[in-house]
Amino acid sequence: MFPFEVLNSEASAANLLEQVRWRDGLYCPHCRSESVIKHGSYRVYQRYLCKDCDRTFNPKTGTIFAHAKIGLDKLLFAFYAFLRFNTSIHQLDAELTVSYRSLRRRVERSGELLDAPAIDLVGPVEIDEVYVTAGLKGRERDRESRSRGLSTRGRGSYAEDKPPVFTLVDRGSGQRYVVPAKSADESTVRLLLGDCEEESLTVYTDGFRAYDPLEDDENYQRETVIHGEGEYVDGDAHVNTCESHASLARRWLSPHRGVSKDKLTPYLRAFQLRRRILRKPGRDALKEIVRTVL
Ligand SMILES: [Zn+2]
Repeated sequence: MFPFEVLNSEASAANLLEQVRWRDGLYCPHCRSESVIKHGSYRVYQRYLCKDCDRTFNPKTGTIFAHAKIGLDKLLFAFYAFLRFNTSIHQLDAELTVSYRSLRRRVERSGELLDAPAIDLVGPVEIDEVYVTAGLKGRERDRESRSRGLSTRGRGSYAEDKPPVFTLVDRGSGQRYVVPAKSADESTVRLLLGDCEEESLTVYTDGFRAYDPLEDDENYQRETVIHGEGEYVDGDAHVNTCESHASLARRWLSPHRGVSKDKLTPYLRAFQLRRRILRKPGRDALKEIVRTVL
């Protein structure tokens, strides 16, 4: 259910931010002291005074919500719709009549604040890569690389604005990861699969050469799926879950047509967050979003 009651005024949005931010008790964001007292208000926000450092603060101080020209209720609505409904920032701009550039900056900044997924593999693992056509948003001055990007065929590359995006599915833990990379090579594959020194990790891959070195490595048990030879599913050896997850990631990126390659990371981390909140009730989902970007 959409959390109307939280988003119908800046005061109720402020209230939610307060609840989430100080859930473990109130403290000063400047010096972390808990010796704070109420000290008037700043618009609809409670203001506090720190008795240790003598500075004032409110619930937005030091967060991505600080100094926003857009009201907190509108900003939270934007974050919510962006993550939950995959709404484009252009569409949000039309709904909210706020500045497109400043809204985009806040949304992208929120994605940058999300942690990189901690990849902890149990195995067996499917790994696969796709190439995303990146655009020029936020890099308007860099025209040259796009024309080169459009003329390339086959597998893409970061330099040609078709950065590789790896999908990992850990069948053991049920976790899925979508990670953009600078290049689809052996070192990236090793970085993603980690050290796993304990026992040999079963890895399902397609026939792409970046996975070949896993064959000679006793830490891995590589099983190859060869596409295009009528051998799509050979028992457990398939990367179908990766492929369906990658198509969800593509669908997620599609309303944000033209996300530049250097912004792929925040957009794909947002996709991970979206998966976490998708089945939560609206208010809980919104709280989780706020908690994550604080
Ligand atoms: Zn303080």
